[in-house]
Formats: sequence, C-alpha cells, structure tokens
Amino acid sequence: MKPFQYTKAVTQQSAIEAIAKPGVKIIAGGTNLVDLMKRGVTAPDKLVDINNLPLKSISLDKAGQLHIGALALNSTVSESPLVLEQQPLLAMALKAGASPQLRNMATVGGNMMQRTRCAYFYDTTMPCNKRQPGSGCGALEGYNRMHAIFGTSNKCIAVHPSDMCVALAALGAEVTVSSRKGSRVIPFTDFHRLPGDHPEKDNTLADGELITGVVISNNKFAKNSYYLKIRDRQSYAFALVSVAAALEINNGTIKEARLAMGGVAHKPWRLYDAEKALAGKPANEESFNQAAQIAMQGAKGYQFNSFKLKLAPAAITEALKHAAGIA
Ligand SMILES: Cc1cc2nc3c(=O)[nH]c(=O)nc-3n(C[C@H](O)[C@H](O)[C@H](O)COP(=O)(O)OP(=O)(O)OC[C@H]3O[C@@H](n4cnc5c(N)ncnc54)[C@H](O)[C@@H]3O)c2cc1C
Repeated sequence: MKPFQYTKAVTQQSAIEAIAKPGVKIIAGGTNLVDLMKRGVTAPDKLVDINNLPLKSISLDKAGQLHIGALALNSTVSESPLVLEQQPLLAMALKAGASPQLRNMATVGGNMMQRTRCAYFYDTTMPCNKRQPGSGCGALEGYNRMHAIFGTSNKCIAVHPSDMCVALAALGAEVTVSSRKGSRVIPFTDFHRLPGDHPEKDNTLADGELITGVVISNNKFAKNSYYLKIRDRQSYAFALVSVAAALEINNGTIKEARLAMGGVAHKPWRLYDAEKALAGKPANEESFNQAAQIAMQGAKGYQFNSFKLKLAPAAITEALKHAAGIA
C-alpha cells in the first residue's frame, strides 16, 4: 500500500477545506475504502477522517421529512424507531446488507459512495475502464454473472452494489452536499449515474463535495413496502437481484407505486414505467405480473447473467406481493 497521511477533521468547514485539495479522500467507516487501498485500486495521498463531525443524527421535521446524517451508521439507521415507523423499507434494505459487524462501521455517506464489486475492478492485473479509463472491460467477454442487464455501455457492465441505495431511490430521497461553493441538494435518482463513456465516474458528486445527509419526504408507503434481496447466500452476499417495492393502497386499489431494483444496473434502477402501470390497478398478482413484464423492457443479458432476465421479473412480482400483504 502506498504511504499516506491521515488527519481528523474537527469541523465540517475544516473537512471541506481539506478535501478541496487533489489526492485527498474522506474516510468514514473505512469498510470499502481501506479494502480498495490495500488492493491498490485507489491510492490517496491523504485521508481525512470525518467521524468527529456532527452528522450522525436521525430526526423528523414538522413536515414529516426524515433527515439522516451522512455519518449515521447503517446499523443505527436500520434499528432507529423513527426509521422503522416512518420508512420501514429503508430499514429492511439496510438489514439485508453486509453483516452486523460491517453495518456497525458503515455509514450512510460511505454506503452511497461504495464502489462496484465487479471482480475485474478489484483485480489490478485485468483491464477495467472504471479503474483505469481506456484499459478495456474484462467483464464484457469475461465472467459476468453478477453484472448489469440495464443501462450498460460497451465500456462497462458493472452494477452498483448497495442495498440501502435501492430503497432510497424508490423512496425518492434527496442527498444534501456541501463544499467551498456552498450547499446543494441532489435528487437521489440523479446521484448515481450510468457508465456511458465514463464508467470511472460512479456518481454526480463534484470534486470537493462532502455528503452531509439524506432527506426522505413524508409518504404513505410505511404500511405496504418490502425489500426483497436474492443472493447466493442468505447473508453476507451482494444481490444478484433486489427489489424495493412501496405501495399506497386504498380499498384494494393502488394509488401510487414505487419500485427500484438493485444488482441490475450501474445505479439503483427505478422502474418508472412499471410504477405508472400499477397506478389505479387492483393490488393483485395479475397487476404485479404485468408491471414486472413492463419493467423488463430494454433488459439485455450477457453470457453468464442471462438468468437475471427471468429472475428479475419474478422478484418484482414477489416483492410487490409481499408489499401488498398477499405473499
Ligand atoms: C464483505 C463485505 C460485504 C458487504 N456486503 C454488502 C451488501 O450486501 N450490501 C451493501 O449495500 N453493502 C455491502 N457492503 C458494503 C458496505 O455497505 C460499504 O463498505 C459501506 O457502506 C461503506 O461505508 P463506510 O462508511 O465504511 O465508507 P468508507 O469505506 O469510509 O468510504 C467509502 C467511500 O465513500 C467516501 N465517503 C464516505 N463518507 C463520505 C461523505 N460523507 N461524503 C463524501 N464521500 C464520502 C469515501 O471517500 C470513500 O470513497 C459490504 C462490504 C464488505 C466489506
């Protein structure tokens, strides 16, 4: 590992000043960054530890918006009575991720910024446009079982690995960020990006920006939501396919639906057309099957991941049945 400097930021302003310089990276829980440094995938000159910043709170404002600080731990958020009552989908998604030990270290901001688990990205002897732009993509013709079926490019077919982010995309959360230029809000669905010609960029966070938290608007999904994660092992494994489903149901009819998938794209994949198709329909298996078929339009499999073309629609139907309480 390349030698690096380490410092602790004591104020948000000092963290922002520190990360404005090139070669400086934030460290929060360290559960992803340290692995990447050990493997030589990234080699910052300096780490700024932000764990002393006051960004750990979870609170509800008068408008019913849930505010979660960027340093709130994945375990704390998943067990928070406020989150369980207001946004249980988020708690379910977090509990499906990693292991209890990892969730005790991992933060909300770090979870959003975690990098793909594509084996070619981690293996510095292999080509990877995400790690080294212009070097090629080992996964395109390689072992691509875990890879994307939506929104791919000929430069990258990696997927975003987070569970939490799939729930936040479905819930239409917003990300608050700060830098020397001030503060701004990024809609969650615009935070992560598709690979296109620049797979090295995972998201739309600008250089020098610090994530300060996420905000989830008041909604009526708490009663009817579900996170379904399908993976090779029941715990401690990344999703082959996951689905965050949230419904507002009135007398058996769907008023509003929110759906997002994980394990299928370079970003949490919102299923807008399927959501539209569900509105006004009865909350039954037939509607859910139709929505699942609509959701799969434009999906494309590769040599080893074509099973996802069948697994994904089945998972959507199953998640919706659980959300509606008819599973
Ligand atoms: C074995 C294993 C299994 C896992 N399984 C899963 C799983 O099933 N599902 C899942 O979702 N995740 C899983 N994870 C990933 C885990 O959730 C992430 O490693 C974790 O969420 C990262 O958070 P962190 O605070 O440790 O980030 P760090 O490792 O500290 O940082 C990660 C990145 O985020 C940046 N960063 C951190 N905070 C901020 C901020 N506030 N503003 C701007 N940038 C910031 C850092 O600079 C770095 O680039 C697994 C990890 C491991 C090691």
